[in-house]
Amino acid sequence: MPRQLADWLIESTSTIVFTGAGISTESGIPDFRSPGGIWEHNQPVDFNDFVTSEDSRIEYWRQKSEAHSEYFDAQPNVGHEILARWESQHHLDGLITQNIDGLHQAAGSHKVLEIHGTAREVSCLECGKRDSATGPVAEFLETGVPPICSNCNGWLKHATISFGQMLDTTVLEQCAEWARSCDLFVAMGSSLVVHPAASLPEMAKAHGARLVIINRDPTPCDSMADLAIQGSLGESLKDVDDCLETLRNQ
Ligand code: NAD
Repeated sequence: MPRQLADWLIESTSTIVFTGAGISTESGIPDFRSPGGIWEHNQPVDFNDFVTSEDSRIEYWRQKSEAHSEYFDAQPNVGHEILARWESQHHLDGLITQNIDGLHQAAGSHKVLEIHGTAREVSCLECGKRDSATGPVAEFLETGVPPICSNCNGWLKHATISFGQMLDTTVLEQCAEWARSCDLFVAMGSSLVVHPAASLPEMAKAHGARLVIINRDPTPCDSMADLAIQGSLGESLKDVDDCLETLRNQ
């Protein structure tokens, strides 16, 4: 099976990879739905509650400040590194991620679309000014008061999409364009149940792409995939990368 994907990566003229929280669990960042995942400890704060209630803003900043060092201290793992290498070797034309941890860019990937934004930055809900999240998190940890924008006094929130918040339509349209125009779409480390991200594999397949899914647990899209590999992402990607190396040297 790794050899099959390596063959298709070589044959492909446009490959898009889609990653979910499962690519980062081997960097020590828990996913959402597996046992021990983030939702076992925290009830996420809805966007509407954030904008209407100071108590909710405090709870939001408490949760985000707790998660901050988890994201900032985490290092890319072998899976992130292999995907970054595939981009530099022209095997990968774009990477769409649901993750907010920034680890693909930390590993050296450049063509990345972040559907749910990034936890590495904050954004002002009034004027849109963006900044590193480090300063506002330190301020909240010291004062317990949700930080506000230095430019316009608007509320600062991480540059991520909360429950109840609109996704960025420009990013979404670009993701759809990539899914429609690729000839190989590889989804990995996602339970593929959150829409609209979960519809991207289906869209790619409907437009004629080969669909490959790599995940530890089965997903609802496995039955439509041309190849479904069940297992750890680190190990699976290493196996595919070894096959690619062999094929390149032939
Ligand atoms: P999910 O938790 O619903 O699914 C993760 C999937 O990855 C599971 O099916 C699991 O079987 C698989 N998995 C976990 N570790 C794996 C490994 N080492 N190898 C292979 N497969 C593995 O995640 P999702 O589909 O991405 O959706 C959850 C939402 O949570 C997304 O919206 C995402 O933005 C957000 N989230 C992001 C992060 C992050 O930035 N790292 C972390 C948690 C949640």
